[in-house]
Amino acid sequence: MPNNSLVVHNETQFRKQVVDLAPGVWTAVGYAASTQHMIEGRETVTIVDTSESTSAAAHVLAAFREKTDKPVGRIIYTHSHRDHISGASVFSEGQTVPILASAGFESDLVGQDETRIAPNKALGRRTMAQFGIGLTPEERISLGCGPGNRPMEGMGAGHIPPTELFAEDRDIDLDGTLARLIHAPGETADHMAVWLPEQKILFPGDNWYHAFPNLYAIRGTPYRDFAKWAESLAMLAELGAEVLAPGHTQPVFGADRVREVLLTTREAILHVMRHTAEGMDAGLSQDDIAASISLPPHLADKPWLGEFYGKASWSARAFATGTLGWYDGNPTHLGTLSSAARARHMAELAGGVEALEAQAQATPDLQWRLELCDHLLALGASAEALKAETMEALAETEINATARNTYLWEAKKLREGAGA
Ligand SMILES: [Zn+2]
Repeated sequence: MPNNSLVVHNETQFRKQVVDLAPGVWTAVGYAASTQHMIEGRETVTIVDTSESTSAAAHVLAAFREKTDKPVGRIIYTHSHRDHISGASVFSEGQTVPILASAGFESDLVGQDETRIAPNKALGRRTMAQFGIGLTPEERISLGCGPGNRPMEGMGAGHIPPTELFAEDRDIDLDGTLARLIHAPGETADHMAVWLPEQKILFPGDNWYHAFPNLYAIRGTPYRDFAKWAESLAMLAELGAEVLAPGHTQPVFGADRVREVLLTTREAILHVMRHTAEGMDAGLSQDDIAASISLPPHLADKPWLGEFYGKASWSARAFATGTLGWYDGNPTHLGTLSSAARARHMAELAGGVEALEAQAQATPDLQWRLELCDHLLALGASAEALKAETMEALAETEINATARNTYLWEAKKLREGAGA
């Protein structure tokens, strides 16, 4: 049985619906990995974010058309992640419409520029694993940021580059509705929140959603600036929004609630930074810093800080690496043993490869079993099936969707590779 909290999070946060935020303002949730928003003007509508695929965008546009058939007059991208910018061609319906974004608009993914030396194959594999591409919707359950079951055709196919870039915060007229574009670096450096001061509706992009923030994505991301993300949340909380319509998950209603979710998420980020910095100052290893982190009770009991998408322990490692780099201050780690060399030493300690195998089978500690399986694999012993079944067992208890998907995806690959 999969983790029940993850199942419930998927069913509630990604329930497919177009939500009325105010007269003439809507959010589409559950149609795609991300959310899309529509703001009605006098003659035209504005679309904020466009989903990850042309098929999802087509479903959203059809649902929006039940609210109004005014044509799309402009599109705004809150940031450059592919799950927000890849359905623009569907919304623009063959017309040339202005597409607004931050002046720093660029993806934080490697692989944008094929001529640069970058681990693009690794990123591709890990992205497939994180999002469970190739798993069935029943296996996948959730993306953490979006529904496990969603249309996949036309993935990435409908992107249109922005036509107007904004370097400064700016008031703009959305065909009769006043909006302010606010730079708010966070999940990406190029985040631009959209604020409707008259309706008091805030679109924060991915700087907030109903899950622990993805301060580090296991598909592989460069360092996300924790301090700037926390600062942006404090700044957004000061706007006094009464409705928060995030880039993923359901909207939040009520000024007090909106302020609370923004500020407690900021506190959670500061907690990770403080815990990690104190651990590093005390000379602890990344393992010990990651193993000892937990949110204080007044944050841990907030449902929107559940680790469905981001994870505190991974975030602690990312903060440590992002600030002082990989070296943890322990000179032991200045030297290097290859995986095979370490595995040979472990086998020697255990009393031979067969004894190591027996320990791997016997230990009830699943994390330790995985580590022993890696030693066995490094020695050329066949531990593929044991590693696969251990990852599958961990997947079932895991609350984090990206960890679950990665365990199941890699288990499948391992079984295929072993011919099992
Ligand atoms: Zn997103």
